[in-house]
Amino acid sequence: MTMSPNDLFNTPRQPVKNATVPFWHRDIHELHDHRTTEELPESSDVVIIGAGYAGVSTAYHLVKGEASDKEVSITILEARGACSGATGRNGGHLRPDMYTPMTRLIDRAGVERALEVTEFEIANVHAIKSLVEKEKIDCDFTLTRSIDVWSNEETARKAKEMYDKLASHDLEYMKDVFFMLGKDAEGVSGVKGAKACASFTAATLWPYKLILHLTASILETGRVNLQTHTPVESVSRQSTGSFVVTTPRGTTVARKVIYANNAYISGLLPQYREAIVPCKGLCTHISVPEGTRAPLLNNSYIVREEDNVASYLIPRADGSIVVGGANLRYHSVLSSWYDNVDDSCLIEQVKDHYHGYMQRHFNGWEGSGAHVDKVWTGIMGYSWDSQPHVGAVPGEGGQYVLAGFNGHGMPQVFLSALGVAKMVQNGIEFEDAGVPRLFQTTKDRLEKAKNGPLGGDILGIKR
Ligand SMILES: Cc1cc2nc3c(=O)[nH]c(=O)nc-3n(C[C@H](O)[C@H](O)[C@H](O)COP(=O)(O)OP(=O)(O)OC[C@H]3O[C@@H](n4cnc5c(N)ncnc54)[C@H](O)[C@@H]3O)c2cc1C
Repeated sequence: MTMSPNDLFNTPRQPVKNATVPFWHRDIHELHDHRTTEELPESSDVVIIGAGYAGVSTAYHLVKGEASDKEVSITILEARGACSGATGRNGGHLRPDMYTPMTRLIDRAGVERALEVTEFEIANVHAIKSLVEKEKIDCDFTLTRSIDVWSNEETARKAKEMYDKLASHDLEYMKDVFFMLGKDAEGVSGVKGAKACASFTAATLWPYKLILHLTASILETGRVNLQTHTPVESVSRQSTGSFVVTTPRGTTVARKVIYANNAYISGLLPQYREAIVPCKGLCTHISVPEGTRAPLLNNSYIVREEDNVASYLIPRADGSIVVGGANLRYHSVLSSWYDNVDDSCLIEQVKDHYHGYMQRHFNGWEGSGAHVDKVWTGIMGYSWDSQPHVGAVPGEGGQYVLAGFNGHGMPQVFLSALGVAKMVQNGIEFEDAGVPRLFQTTKDRLEKAKNGPLGGDILGIKR
């Protein structure tokens, strides 16, 4: 069934029960369903809504990181289990986008602001590497190169034009980008029929393990109270300036509230209804039969097939593959993905897309026996203008947001969380928080999303 604009924005924006189970939840952590105390604490300095990458990273910076304070008390309220949202069900691809959105951002906002975004994403990769080393986190973190592949003649040529345009700006980071157009693209990438490819530094990891390790580490400080299976229903300001946070299990009071509930933010802050829309995606795990050796993949990928259907893909050290995306396959059927919070079922149009995927697209995998052994869905917070919303909620003192990370939060969230932690703890302004200016949540951005074309970048741009 195709939706009309009038049908949109009517779904309740709360996580559903019985979500599909992602490969990453194979080994459920002992803190997955944790409640630090039987009852909600009466009050705390900060309530964080959402225990995904954004919520847990912010708490980490507040109690252990650069913006830490020995006195602060934090309550994290999570609707489902810890890391059960997009972070626990993503592709594990920590890949700064070196150029695809850059040309658009340069046209919209100028080189300086666009460059802030790319440099920030690169800095996030290095920040996570340092974090994993410092905290000794067992999360399969691997620093690698990511290869973007175009199998369509025309888009390959356009990608080359994009590369030339960026190279003409003499951007320092472009020294890490290698581009190849023509017949050798297939040999370099290993992807059948590749017409062009580009590579640059990126990383892969097991996101759930990263977040659950950080969760354990912040709980050890004794200053964080985690309450899973506790959906926030509303937040209201008291005359004292504090906030009453209401859940089905009772209320708790906070001096400050941080909304780290990504796709679901407008369920609590309706002014984000058009600016951040829940959009559903699908991901799979592919393994090869025991005793079989498929060709080693040293790189992570974005593969655009001949018809421009794109997938993200990471190889794992055990020889298995995590791959997902293919949203062009269902893009026209809005009801299957747009304004959709239902990650309890698959996406009909694409649920079988990855059967035989490695054999179809990667040289040497034909006789590998590679097969899909897990398929799941997850809900992303797509933002109207493709940039996340970070900072103080416009016109609402004491409330902060970091949400709307699209399908691309891995290289954006950690240092955005540091920025928010600094704003909350040290009272600094957004401008001094080290977060790209284009990420700042502003009244203007919310208004544009409300009054501009339906869906903005989400519906207007080929993904
Ligand atoms: C299938 C899929 C593949 C992806 N692949 C990649 C990838 O490879 N690379 C990449 O960079 N990005 C990828 N992403 C996007 C990435 O996962 C997100 O951008 C990122 O994880 C966002 O983190 P978050 O903490 O903001 O959101 P989430 O991880 O979604 O956390 C939000 C949390 O808030 C909770 N919550 C919501 N409402 C409430 C409420 N009212 N009360 C209490 N709790 C609430 C949710 O249950 C959830 O746990 C993918 C996403 C999906 C779905």
